[in-house]
Amino acid sequence: DQLISQIAAGEVIERPSAVVKELLENALDAGATQITIRLEQGGVKRIAITDDGCGIAPEHMPYALARHATSKIASLSDLENVMTLGFRGEALASIASVAQLTLTSRTADADHAWEISGSPVDGDAGQARPSSGPCGTTIDVRDLYFNTPARRKFLKSEQTEYGHCAEVVRRLALARPDVVFSLSHNGKTADHWKGSDLQKRCAQILGAEFASACLAVDETAGPLRLLGFVGLPTAARSRADAQYFYVNGRFVRDKLLTHAVRAAYQDVLHGDRYPSYALSLELDPAQVDVNVHPSKIEVRFRDSRAVHQFVFHAVSRALAQTSA
Ligand code: ADP
Ligand code: MG
Repeated sequence: DQLISQIAAGEVIERPSAVVKELLENALDAGATQITIRLEQGGVKRIAITDDGCGIAPEHMPYALARHATSKIASLSDLENVMTLGFRGEALASIASVAQLTLTSRTADADHAWEISGSPVDGDAGQARPSSGPCGTTIDVRDLYFNTPARRKFLKSEQTEYGHCAEVVRRLALARPDVVFSLSHNGKTADHWKGSDLQKRCAQILGAEFASACLAVDETAGPLRLLGFVGLPTAARSRADAQYFYVNGRFVRDKLLTHAVRAAYQDVLHGDRYPSYALSLELDPAQVDVNVHPSKIEVRFRDSRAVHQFVFHAVSRALAQTSA
């Protein structure tokens, strides 16, 4: 019922940036090539995300807002092989239980768009109504935590919440340089990144300094592949926290991986306290468990020693190009 869904939502929807993450992942899963993110008041007042993805047919809209309704897993055995970002089918339901959610969507073969508003009571969103708009989906989330004032009290300042939202956008935009991202806050455009390759997206997001002093990584060893860029220490470093690691396309902050990269910097450059990098590890999805935490930011590898060694050597070899 409503209470249970709000408690469950608390785990997933900690703050506005959690909404932004879930909606962006859905947009990417839907095959979007252009995504627009409009935020108001740090996302608390409004988070509206528009994509040009596959859309949702009107008869599926009530299910999209229902708990444990996902179109992404057909059987339990699929769980091991999930390649899409979302798969638990509870994000939209959780968001709809703590905010006013309106979903507007149009599939390519529909004459017009349809919309539905999520009721806070699970499974009572009603039927879709005719609407207008281009192909793709807009999810408009207003007044986050309007019905849970206790949770609203834990929110930080508008600028802090906005900062978390913008960081989530950067994480996903680095993972998908081919997708156009537009971000605005309180009606002002904050970022607009054209679709490009990873090197250009790194320059857009990690800055020109990073781009002018970075080395490419592209190593394969058996089923493991590491791709991306590692930054060299520069005199003027705009960001000390530009550390982006992805496993099978998903942003992670993992001790084992962070350690492997840091150890390589230590080894080759004799230390850079704040290495900056955008690295993407690809491996057989059956060799990694990404579901250890609700926020899905940590991972567990079947063979963590092999992964550590591989990442350490790949980054070391890339960095060694400087002294060569
Ligand atoms: P999950 O992503 O885990 O499947 P969600 O609650 O995030 O669960 O979304 C529920 C369903 O709604 C998805 O499985 C998908 O079918 C549909 N959906 C959500 N967002 C979009 C979108 N932007 N474009 C197309 N379909 C979407
Ligand atoms: Mg999802």
